[in-house]
Amino acid sequence: MHRICIVEDEQSLRDMIGLNLELEGYRVQAFSDGQTAQKLFEQTFHFDLIILDVMLPHVSGFDLCRTIRQHSHVPVLFLSAKGTTADRIAGLKLGANDYLVKPFDLEELLLKVQILLNGSVQQDQLDTLQINNKTVNFSTFEVRDAQNNILHTFTKREVQLLELFHEKEGKVVSRQEILDRLWGAEQIPTARTIDNYILAFRKLFEPDPKNPQHFHSIRGVGYKFTRE
Ligand code: CA
Repeated sequence: MHRICIVEDEQSLRDMIGLNLELEGYRVQAFSDGQTAQKLFEQTFHFDLIILDVMLPHVSGFDLCRTIRQHSHVPVLFLSAKGTTADRIAGLKLGANDYLVKPFDLEELLLKVQILLNGSVQQDQLDTLQINNKTVNFSTFEVRDAQNNILHTFTKREVQLLELFHEKEGKVVSRQEILDRLWGAEQIPTARTIDNYILAFRKLFEPDPKNPQHFHSIRGVGYKFTRE
C-alpha cells in the first residue's frame, strides 16, 4: 500500500484530498502546518509520495521540498494558487516532480498521483530484492530461488524490515529507526524480536550464517545490510 503525505493548511482542501486518496486505497498522513512536517522530514520518514502546498504558515512548501531533497528522492507534487511560470520553475528547480495549480480537478490530482507513484524508478526497484540468487517479492512476501521455487514466505513485519534495509543499503539502521518503521506507536516488541528477524534473514540468505556477509550487527547501534 502506498503511503502519501499531504501538507496543506486549508482544512477543507486537506480533508477532501485525504479522503479521496484513502478511497483510492492509499494510506494518508496529513499535516496542516509546515513546521510539524519539517520536523518529521528532518528525521526519518517513509512516504512514497509527498503533496505540498506552497503557501503554508511559518515554513513554506518550497522550504519543505528543500529539506526533503536533502534526504530523499521521494516524488513531490506541489499544489499552489500561484500559477505563474516562474513559480512552477522555482518548484521544479527545487526537485519537485510535478505541479498542480489551484483550483484543480480532483481527477487530475488522482491521475498525477498515480503516475508519480507508478512511474517512480525508486518504487520499481523496491518491488523486489535479490540477495544471493534469491528474490524477495515485497508484494507477495515470498522468497524464491533461481529456479523460481518458493523457499519461504515472510510475515508483513519481516518484509517491512527488508524494505527498510533495502532503502538504506550500506548504511547503519538504528534499532530506533526499525521500531519506528515497523511498530510506530504500537506496542513495543521485546529486544529479542528484531534479533530473531535478523537470525531468520541470515539463515535464509547467508551462505554461512555465523559469518554474515549481508546482515551485519553494529554493536550498540543497530544493523547494516549490504548485498556485496
Ligand atoms: Ca495554503
